Amino acid sequence: MKYLPRFERKKQEKTEIVLVKWYLYPGLKRIRPFKEDSTKPHRYINLKTIPNMALEKTLVLLKPCTVQRALIGEIISIFEKKGFRICGMKMMQLTDELLSEHYAHLSGKPFFQQVKDSMRVAPVVALCLEGVGAVEAVRALAGPTNGRNANPGTIRGSYCLSFQENIVHTSDSHEAAEIELKRFFKPEEILDWKQDTFSSLYAADEF
Ligand code: ADP
Repeated sequence: MKYLPRFERKKQEKTEIVLVKWYLYPGLKRIRPFKEDSTKPHRYINLKTIPNMALEKTLVLLKPCTVQRALIGEIISIFEKKGFRICGMKMMQLTDELLSEHYAHLSGKPFFQQVKDSMRVAPVVALCLEGVGAVEAVRALAGPTNGRNANPGTIRGSYCLSFQENIVHTSDSHEAAEIELKRFFKPEEILDWKQDTFSSLYAADEF
């Protein structure tokens, strides 16, 4: 082994502590020591960046219009292809009571009852999606509320022409995501299963 002066050895030891092989297990980061002689290319995560990671969960509802139009698979596939991990999914028939709570911010609007009724025409599919910056990224992918104004690259821009029948509901903030996930899912319905795609979806310092 090559001789290194003491200060160089110290420097190297320090580097070995901050560079760890990037293994991701749900809720658990298994840290492996840095191996200099490994032949495989590895991705490393700098431990200093861990406090900045923003792996978030958010709620998506595939609205009754999506279910009626047989677009469930197509829309879920867009979220999957984008890279979100599906950690909860179920079909539900919503009640007026639950919708009054969910759309409370619209209670003063003339279309309040109409919007609630449209959400009861058929079941919805509720999804809990996870990813880095998921709340904002899912919203951007959905596009603005009115499908007529939505960019063709977005879900609403590609699949609808309506203000109301706009394919998906998405949480609009971190606080809303937390409240809405609790509204639509029991804790045991959100599953932390292992998905081995993270190293292909993000750079090491992005999560
Ligand atoms: P978003 O779903 O984009 O977060 P809002 O929370 O403002 O939008 O509204 C909730 C839902 O109410 C919309 O997705 C849409 O279905 C319906 N809605 C909102 N504004 C209108 C409107 N002006 N006319 C008809 N429906 C509306």
